[in-house]
Amino acid sequence: MLKSNIMPLFGTSGIRRLANRDLVQLAFQVGLAVGTVYGRVAVGRDTRTSGSALRHAVTAGLLASGARCSDCGIAPTPTIAYITREFEAGIMITASHNPPQYNGLKLLNPDGSAFSAEQQKQIEDLVNGTAPLKVQWDTMQIGEVYSTAVEKHIERIRQDFPGGIKLKVVIDCGCGAAYFITPHLLTQLGCEVIPLNCYPNGLFPHDVEPIESNLGTLMQTVRESGADLGIAHDGDADRMMAVDETGRFISGDKLLGILARFSGSKNIVTTIDASMSIDETHYKVKRTRVGDPYVSEELKNWGKFGGEPSGAWVFPQISLCPDGIYAAAQIADIASRQKLSSLADSIPTYPIIRGNIPGTLANLTDVRESLKSRLNPLSIDTIDGIKLNFEDGWLLIRPSGTEPKIRFTSEAKSETAAHRYYEDGLRVVRNYLQGE
Ligand code: MG
Repeated sequence: MLKSNIMPLFGTSGIRRLANRDLVQLAFQVGLAVGTVYGRVAVGRDTRTSGSALRHAVTAGLLASGARCSDCGIAPTPTIAYITREFEAGIMITASHNPPQYNGLKLLNPDGSAFSAEQQKQIEDLVNGTAPLKVQWDTMQIGEVYSTAVEKHIERIRQDFPGGIKLKVVIDCGCGAAYFITPHLLTQLGCEVIPLNCYPNGLFPHDVEPIESNLGTLMQTVRESGADLGIAHDGDADRMMAVDETGRFISGDKLLGILARFSGSKNIVTTIDASMSIDETHYKVKRTRVGDPYVSEELKNWGKFGGEPSGAWVFPQISLCPDGIYAAAQIADIASRQKLSSLADSIPTYPIIRGNIPGTLANLTDVRESLKSRLNPLSIDTIDGIKLNFEDGWLLIRPSGTEPKIRFTSEAKSETAAHRYYEDGLRVVRNYLQGE
C-alpha cells in the first residue's frame, strides 16, 4: 500500500495540495478508502485542468473498492453537496479559491456537511494502510454518469423564489465551477445577466478569491452597465460576494447583516471573528470557531441562516454546505426589493485591525490570565483562542491552525480604541513569549 507522504491528510477544508503525481496517487487511495466505507458516492469537480485526471483517479479507487460511483461532472461544491442527499457520501475535487496549480478533495455527507474529524480519521487510517482495504475482481463496479446535478440544484433553489426577479446583474464566476449554474439560474428567475468569466477555463483569468482587490472588472462593469447588482464566486462557488448598484464592493460583515435581515430567521450563527455590527441587531447571535464547518455544525440544531464574512453563507433548508448559488439568488431577490447601497449603508462599519506574529502559545490559560489582569475586559470567550470583550469593542488572539503564527484581530467603535486593544494584546503576548 502506498503511503501518502505528507501528513496530516486533512486540513480545515479537506485535502488541498499542488496538483502533481502525488496528488493523483493520493486521490486513488482516498477513492479506495471512501469506497470501502460508503457504498454509493457522488463525485464532482471544479474547472481546474487537473480535475479530469483526479476524477479518473478517485473514481478508479471508488469502483475498485466495490462502491457505486456517479460522476456529476463539473459542478460547484454546493451542487455536489445538495446531490449527495441521494448518496452515502460525496467527493468534490477542488482547491476552492487557491491558484490553478492546486487541487484537492472535499468529502461530504448526505446533509451537505463536511466529513467530521472522526470520519476523516477513518479515511486517513485506511489511506495509511493501518486499516484493512479489500480490492477484489468480483466486487468492482462500473461507473455511472449523473447528468442532472446542476438541473436539480437549480430546481430546488427556484422553489424559494416563485415570483421571479427582475434585475440587471453582472456575474463574475472567475471561470470557476459556477460558470454555468449561476448565470443560468438568474436568467431563469427573470434577471438580465451580463456574464464575466463565465466559461470553464481552469487556469482562471484572475485570482478566484472573491475579495475586493480581485474584483475591479466586476465593479467597473456594474458601474458602466448600470446594473443593479454584481455577484462573484470563488473557484468552487461555495462562496458568494456582492457589489452594489453603485459599483461598490459590499464587505462580508455587511453582507452577513443584509442576508440575515432577509433570512426570516431570528437566530443567526456566525464566527467569533465577525464584526460586532451583527450583535447590534434584534437577532440572537451564536458565535462559533473560525471556519464555515463550525457554522454548519451549529446550524444542525439552531437557526435557519448562518455564515462567515469570507462569503460562505449557509442555508440549512438546502444543505449544510455553504451555498454560493443559493446566496446569489437570495441577494438578487433582496436587490430587486431595495437598493443594495442603502442596505449596506444602514449597517455600521467599525475599524477592524488584523495582523499576526510568529510563535505558538503553549499555555492558553496562562496567556488568558495575563490578558485578564492587564487589560481588564468585561468578559472573555474561549471558543477559539481568547476573545476579550470590552465596552466598545473586542480583541481576539488566536493561534493559527495551519502555521506557527498567532493571529490578532481587534474591532472597536473608534480607530483609537481598536489600535489600543490591538497594541495592548500584542504587548501582553510578546511579554508572555519572552518569559517562556
Ligand atoms: Mg470555496
